[in-house]
Amino acid sequence: MEYQLQFNYCAVLIYSIVLFTHLSRKQTKEKHNRIFTILILIGLTGGSVNILNTYGNMNPGVFHQVFLNLLNYIYFFALVFAMFFYFIYTITLTRNDLNNISNIMKVALYFPIIGIVGVILSNPFTEAIFYYENGIYTRGKQQFLLYVIGFYYVTFGVIWVLREKKFTSLNLKLALASYYLIGCFAVIVQLFVPKLLLQHLGFSACQLIILLNLQKPEEYLDSELEIYNKIAFERIFALNRNSNLEFSVIYVYVEGMDAFAKSMGADSEKAVLKEIAKYLDKISKRNAYYMENSTFFLIYEEELEKIDNLVAQIDKRFKGKWKCDIGEINTDLKMMTVLIPNQIDNIETLYFCNSSFRKKEPQKGNVIDIKEIDFQEAGHQIKLKQIIKKAISEDNFQIYYQPIYSIKENRIVSAEALIRLIDPEEGFISPGEFIPIAEKNGSIIKIGEMVFEKVFAFIRDREISNLGIKYIEINLSVIQCMQKGLANQIIQLIDKYGISRKAINLEITETAAADSPKILLENMRELSKENITFSLDDFGTGYSNISALMSMPLDIIKFDKSMIDMVTTFEYGRVVIDSSIAMVKRMGLEIVAEGVEELRQLDMLKEMGVDFIQGYYFSKPLPEEEFIEYLKKQLSL
Ligand code: C2E
Ligand code: CA
Ligand code: CA
Repeated sequence: MEYQLQFNYCAVLIYSIVLFTHLSRKQTKEKHNRIFTILILIGLTGGSVNILNTYGNMNPGVFHQVFLNLLNYIYFFALVFAMFFYFIYTITLTRNDLNNISNIMKVALYFPIIGIVGVILSNPFTEAIFYYENGIYTRGKQQFLLYVIGFYYVTFGVIWVLREKKFTSLNLKLALASYYLIGCFAVIVQLFVPKLLLQHLGFSACQLIILLNLQKPEEYLDSELEIYNKIAFERIFALNRNSNLEFSVIYVYVEGMDAFAKSMGADSEKAVLKEIAKYLDKISKRNAYYMENSTFFLIYEEELEKIDNLVAQIDKRFKGKWKCDIGEINTDLKMMTVLIPNQIDNIETLYFCNSSFRKKEPQKGNVIDIKEIDFQEAGHQIKLKQIIKKAISEDNFQIYYQPIYSIKENRIVSAEALIRLIDPEEGFISPGEFIPIAEKNGSIIKIGEMVFEKVFAFIRDREISNLGIKYIEINLSVIQCMQKGLANQIIQLIDKYGISRKAINLEITETAAADSPKILLENMRELSKENITFSLDDFGTGYSNISALMSMPLDIIKFDKSMIDMVTTFEYGRVVIDSSIAMVKRMGLEIVAEGVEELRQLDMLKEMGVDFIQGYYFSKPLPEEEFIEYLKKQLSL
């Protein structure tokens, strides 16, 4: 038969390029990287040998028969091991260790490959796979078994990966699907048209797909420090946990780098961190990860004694100096070791400990004992995060309304919308507790949007303008104020609910003004053009940058409760409030006094010229229905 060898030449070329590219990249410690190397080597061997044995088969007598037989055996072994290792590769995409799988899985995994190896080895006696008849290469009757095993492994591998949902990105699914299809296509074609020899071209194309889609080490490296980054750490952590491995994480926090960067520049800071990264990477045998904020994590699988040794060694090294462009400098450090999964078994707690351990003072040396960490607090925060997530999907939020009284009109004219989280199991959770956490993980954006929707629906459906309410004040978080499209979003929602722009007033805080002056100002100006008014919340709690406040389109200033309390408790309190009121009035703005609880306060504030009063003296924040009742009662009086 005339075999078409050119496909195999191409395949060998592709295998070589893939091998070269793969080996020249800096690899992470994931097991699948090593398996991929094996996979390419098997392919390269199989592809090359396939050229030789085909040549030998086409030209009888060129090679000695024993050598030709040997080539054939290598070819068949390479074929079955290629399929087997494709499977192992797929498994290691989601696990870092194959020891902790069930016995049934082990049988399903190893039995077919052992069986087929047995069949190939017994070929000299059975001629099941191939034989030579009058010097001509002939396929054995059981050769199809090789392909059956191949399909078995490839299919098994794909099912496996799809089962482990946590790890399957779209990218992974696409890459797997294409390697499955191309691999099968090539094998089937070769089965029916043997002279085409397409198989290795198919396999090498699969490897190219893997190389381009799944083996992307750049993603895992910190480009400046040239060691693994946070993404790599999270991936290894997840893989190790998924394979039930026991290991340790050593936190190494380099102190004082922020101050150093401020005085010496970011380049010098990076240079020092790079020196440290190089050292840690080497001493940990390439198990160091840069976690940002001058913190490195080292992953270690050795026993405790060796870890203590390593920690002591690092401690000693930090007593010396680090080189950078401006000379040699000293740095302080803090370290802590945690055992996974004995002491911590999830990444959230691991991160919580990271922020918590930096604030601790080490008892001896530079090492913090994990016992010093307040895990109750960690547990509490993680639980709150889950409750917030659940509240968003199950809509466990309600809006309460706290009436605001106008001194001039002697009645309730507006109200502040205050969010409430009522969890079915944990009950009531105060916004003071969950808003900061929602701000940290970004879920405040979703929550903020939901607050708008609920308040706007309330304004429209309950026709509160007929009950004397001119507008509802809505709190904006700092994070919301930093969103570029905020103004647009609000306008669109207002139009969706068909309410008047005058029916709302947005409360911003001084911190928002200080943190993101530019975007906040843009948002405010845009909204202000649309006739939406603003209040400055919590006035008197920070030190106000009056000139910055002057440039903002504000209408109302809300004096914080702490300031209002001064009126009655502190001798010069009155003076402070008086001059603040005078200043705000001169700016042409109105004043809300917050947290007014007693008649005495109310009387004094009236006299001093405050415009509005909000506080328990009139009412606590009320659920929708009660708020409506409250307003109706006022009307009937
Ligand atoms: P805030 O904006 O300063 O709201 C006023 C807080 O003072 C409310 O607490 C209110 O219940 C309480 N308060 C009102 N009158 C009195 C009084 O006479 N005495 C005392 N002791 N307290 C009074 P709340 O509802 O627990 O809210 C706490 C904070 O949570 C709010 O402070 C605000 O910063 C935030 N927050 C509430 N709802 C939202 C929201 O929808 N979005 C955002 N981003 N933050 C919100
Ligand atoms: Ca407020
Ligand atoms: Ca306030």
